[in-house]
Amino acid sequence: MFERIKSASQRLDGIAHKTPVFTSSTLNQKFNAEILFKCENFQRVGAFKFRGAYNSISQLSDEQKASGVLAYSSGNHAQAVACVGKLLGVATTIVMPSDAPEIKLAATKGYGADVIQYDPDTQVREEVAAELLEGKSLTLIPPFDHEDVIAGQGTVAYEFINEVSRLDALLAPCGGGGLLSGTAVASKNLNPKTKVYGIEPELADDATLSFKTGKIHSKPNPPTIADGTRTARVGDKTFPLICEYVDDMRTVSEEAIEQAVRFFFYRMKMVVEPSGALGLAALLTGAIKPEGRIGVIISGGNIDGPTMTQILSSGHFSEFG
Ligand SMILES: *Cc1c(COP(=O)(O)O)cnc(C)c1O
Repeated sequence: MFERIKSASQRLDGIAHKTPVFTSSTLNQKFNAEILFKCENFQRVGAFKFRGAYNSISQLSDEQKASGVLAYSSGNHAQAVACVGKLLGVATTIVMPSDAPEIKLAATKGYGADVIQYDPDTQVREEVAAELLEGKSLTLIPPFDHEDVIAGQGTVAYEFINEVSRLDALLAPCGGGGLLSGTAVASKNLNPKTKVYGIEPELADDATLSFKTGKIHSKPNPPTIADGTRTARVGDKTFPLICEYVDDMRTVSEEAIEQAVRFFFYRMKMVVEPSGALGLAALLTGAIKPEGRIGVIISGGNIDGPTMTQILSSGHFSEFG
């Protein structure tokens, strides 16, 4: 997988943004440590998902590209596939729940995708997708459980570590585990001493349970505000990599996630979506001890106005001293 990450990195060169690494002196002083944020909220489409989508779709055969691709997602993966489809001239069909946020629907349609909506209360998205696949030769691009997607997501850590060199620890959020597995493979190959931690919401702790027991646990529709991590379970391809390369998993409360979103907004002037704030939440609560030089992946910044307003109004900038 490490070789695949390196080739993905070359493939993405000049196409994905080389996202910036930011620090906060307030935070470094508070913790007496050095915290480095890799800002994928500034990636194309506002999340790291662009990397995996581009790495997989660009490698399809001409025939597959001509027939088009299919994805099912309510979130960042949908936008990423739609955007890459537009870039590469590949037709995209995206299956989205009818209750998906208007802003994400609009963005996905804006890239020219053919959006198929389904009722999440009465229909299962995998079945809707399977029906669409029948008779057509669309290629399914899964959101995480695919080698080329994992390799693409692994380029975040590959780029990060090549820029900042030595890290004592590296934190990444975990939903289906595409980002975390790619992060762990890249990190352990570049520097085996760096501890890699996966962070999940307490309300969506399926991967933590799976990691601790060595067997995949599932939690459908967890009610966390971190919508990027609401995936029911880790994948059959991501889980073995997580077990082999990740040092440990931690969970954080909804309150800590919101506090981290507020910190990014008030102190660092950044719009970060709740899923993107899990790493900082783990440091703020002490779930991860802030010691030494710690890398934190901010996975995305797609949050709608009302949700941001609600988070900002439930706390105050002075909570950080
Ligand atoms: C998809 C996503 C995640 C979770 O990534 P997985 O590869 O499914 O573990 C985390 N944060 C954001 C912003 C995402 O879009």
